[in-house]
Amino acid sequence: MNQIAQWNLSGIGCSLLILLGVMGLSAVGLGWIVNGIFLAVFLLALLPVVAVYGLRWWVKRNVVEDQCPMCGHAFAALNQVAFNCPNCSEALQIKDGRFVRITPPGTIDVDAVEVDVQVLED
Ligand SMILES: [Zn+2]
Repeated sequence: MNQIAQWNLSGIGCSLLILLGVMGLSAVGLGWIVNGIFLAVFLLALLPVVAVYGLRWWVKRNVVEDQCPMCGHAFAALNQVAFNCPNCSEALQIKDGRFVRITPPGTIDVDAVEVDVQVLED
């Protein structure tokens, strides 16, 4: 009686373990598939939203609307890119959200730097 009971118990334990293993494996496998499908659907659904919001965010960050400092023509331009006024074709760039004329190279506040050095030497 004892031996049979033991065999039954171990048999039940063994089959339970296998069942649990199979369930676990299938759960993990199914989980991966479900997760994959869910992720794919989620990304597909999210993509246009992200694209629209991303574009809006990017435009808000990178497109500046202002008036030309030379002729007052209002237009929009990309940030951090040198451009020309479509009206008077003045070379412009964006500084602190405003259109400014591109300063010709070699005339950048040399006097101010020299004054600063003199003050430091005193
Ligand atoms: Zn202009």
